[in-house]
Amino acid sequence: MEAVHCDLCGQKDARFEAKQTDFMHQSTTEVFSVVSCTTCDLHYTNPRPTESEIGQYYVGSYSFHNAPSQLKRYIDELLYFFANHLFFVYLFNWIPFVREKLILRIRPTIADPIREFLKKNPNASFMDIGCGAGEHAHFWGHRGSVTGYRRMGVKNVYAMEIAEKARESLREKGVTPFKSLVDVPADLKLDVIRMNWSLEHVHRPSEYFQFVRQHLKPGGLCLLTIPNNDGILYRMYPDCLELPIHLYHFSPDTIHKYAQKHGLVVQKTETFSYPGSFYFNGQVYPSRRDSENASGPQGFARMSLVEAYYFNRVLQRAGNHLGNDLIVLLTV
Ligand SMILES: [Zn+2]
Repeated sequence: MEAVHCDLCGQKDARFEAKQTDFMHQSTTEVFSVVSCTTCDLHYTNPRPTESEIGQYYVGSYSFHNAPSQLKRYIDELLYFFANHLFFVYLFNWIPFVREKLILRIRPTIADPIREFLKKNPNASFMDIGCGAGEHAHFWGHRGSVTGYRRMGVKNVYAMEIAEKARESLREKGVTPFKSLVDVPADLKLDVIRMNWSLEHVHRPSEYFQFVRQHLKPGGLCLLTIPNNDGILYRMYPDCLELPIHLYHFSPDTIHKYAQKHGLVVQKTETFSYPGSFYFNGQVYPSRRDSENASGPQGFARMSLVEAYYFNRVLQRAGNHLGNDLIVLLTV
């Protein structure tokens, strides 16, 4: 474990915000604290596992690092289709096993800005930082993944991924993988850089902003997607945190400060939520709070599929900074 200063401004004074154990992946029963910088308000996990210790908290089933089969991908796409069409929502509302799978897949429709950029510029060079095996791009699924873009005809695809097995799998698909920032040649210039729900996992986000500043071409695009610590879920339940693997808990405000510090321009920020994050947190939140006076999100685990469908519509009406996830577009 290590105690650290603020990565954004260097301040060492911080105030306590929340504490939590790893209720999401159950890698440990240790309790971790999140603090906020008294100068710039960056929220971060402190003390935290060091770079050599953090691996033990990524449980084997952290599915992102494994490549799914073709069949699994088709089934997944079919489930997304059912989850977002009212007819199927009513149909499957009474089948418990399917219901749960569908609730987790109800999503707003958000265009993939990288896909749109690469469609217009198929010769562009693209790097995905922290992409696992490159088969799945979280919110944008298989179509928005590194291999999805390769299938689209994008030739210059680079990736940064710490897991050796994932790098091997990327190499087989014609992607050039790097293990870390220092392995990237200084003169490699990129049209597009993406960090899809990975910035919150790194030990020093500053180095990544610096990397973008150094490697992104003028006119290029950097996409950051991260959990939004200002989002509704975290405002309601400040200890609903993915610890210890989330080392930073950003907000639109702290991302703006990072960008300004590193000479980057925030072109756009957008937030969104989906019912699955409330539902999943409700299911796995520590049971010691599961009483009549539960203070956590447990009640969300009892929502029906039909409720989740309409909840999704209601969530899209929240203010632009209140979604649980944040999309940022940066340029140089
Ligand atoms: Zn600070």
